[in-house]
Amino acid sequence: MMEKEEAKRHGRRLVLVVYPSQGHINPMLQLATILYSKGFSIIILHPEFNSPNHSNHPDFSFVSIPGGLSNVSASPGDIVATISAINRSCEAPFQRYLEQILEVEDPHDRVAGVIYDGFMHFAQRVANHLKLPGISMCTTAAASLLAFAVSRHPDGHGYIPYQDSLSQLDQEPELEALKLEDIIKSAAGNPTSLEQRAIIKESTKNASAIIVNTIHFLEQKKLTKVQEYFGNPIFPIGPFHKLAPSSSSSLLEEDTNCISWLDKQALESVIYVSFGSMTSMDENELLEIASGLASSELPFLWVVRPGLVTGSEWVEELLPESFWKRVEAEGRGCIVKWAPQKEVLAHGAVGGFWSHCGWNSILESVCEGVPMLCRPIFGDQPLNVRYVCDVWKIGLEIEGVLERGKIEKGIRRLMIDSEGLEIRQRAKGLKEKANFCLSEDGSSYNALNELVQHILSS
Ligand code: UDP
Repeated sequence: MMEKEEAKRHGRRLVLVVYPSQGHINPMLQLATILYSKGFSIIILHPEFNSPNHSNHPDFSFVSIPGGLSNVSASPGDIVATISAINRSCEAPFQRYLEQILEVEDPHDRVAGVIYDGFMHFAQRVANHLKLPGISMCTTAAASLLAFAVSRHPDGHGYIPYQDSLSQLDQEPELEALKLEDIIKSAAGNPTSLEQRAIIKESTKNASAIIVNTIHFLEQKKLTKVQEYFGNPIFPIGPFHKLAPSSSSSLLEEDTNCISWLDKQALESVIYVSFGSMTSMDENELLEIASGLASSELPFLWVVRPGLVTGSEWVEELLPESFWKRVEAEGRGCIVKWAPQKEVLAHGAVGGFWSHCGWNSILESVCEGVPMLCRPIFGDQPLNVRYVCDVWKIGLEIEGVLERGKIEKGIRRLMIDSEGLEIRQRAKGLKEKANFCLSEDGSSYNALNELVQHILSS
């Protein structure tokens, strides 16, 4: 039986290269599950640190790339350096690994391609060298890819090096709501990151295709622009997590007690608060959030990751006793180190999501029809928030200095006020549209079948 199953996958071997942070591991393992369900066999390559838990995914083969990197910081400030270090250290071992498997390759069981996270651009160079098709996988909005076309010059004057693309984009009326300026802002301009972006742009242009974790109707015109700019086929097959639900790939242990706590709360009454896997804040901001949540008088589920406040492992000692007493007495709050987020957002008690606007979090919220309170912090988040608040109009932004009164007001506007009710209705409408795209003949369903054909014919 097993042999028959494996025989079916002959000639359909795919090598997937993961970037080792939570917001990248999740979509890559989800994509692996999708492609496995389409009859491919899957080899996952990943750096040694932040290794996904192999035993959660028994259908895949895992290969750890020894890179000599340990304790690589994933903090926002270090991202550029981390991406460079990983690309430098992984390229040679990855090439050796592929050469080895190609050397003993059964001609009927060829490697059909290498699919890599856009940050792991070394994989495209290796694929070119070994004459294998490389496919770039984008874990952000398609619009973020446009940031590669419109980087601002480091001295603040003009843009490099894509003036033509810039003026074309500027005249695009559909970009009005999602302004060019937002796209530029998302490409935080320091010289090293400009260099990184130029490399990523080149590898993406060299890829045989781009897979994006997005839905066609969410970004229709941006997808066309991306295709025009990069010149290769683009497959918007998202949201991955709905297309083929996969086992958890959380690096931290998920605290499922919060689900039993949610079970006791009223319908759509809870604000879920999480700032993803990488953002950090100072102690004062944490205290303001705690105060704002307490005085909103609404139930809340709050993820306070170890390290969210720099230098602190857990919040017990950071939050004042009066906060704990009030929240415990009212039974109104639940604080966890890491939540099963997709399950939380799908829970009927959750009525709003206060988020840093990471792209995975946004897609997960959209798919459950949960309106958002937005607090973007870095990277693509300032761009994503424009989609949520200005284009789809399913959220509100908390801007400026974090302060308890502003937080309380923001939460109540979203959860209770009539303005919030309209936003909730729109979020529910978007959920229905997203579900439709996943069904037979929906855009994601069709794009996936086209992707499979593309891989098999490359
Ligand atoms: N996540 C989770 N539990 C949490 C917080 C986040 O499972 O308590 C998951 C979330 O579902 C998402 C990912 O971690 O898939 C975070 O990715 P995102 O792009 O939203 O943000 P990043 O962490 O990359 O900034």
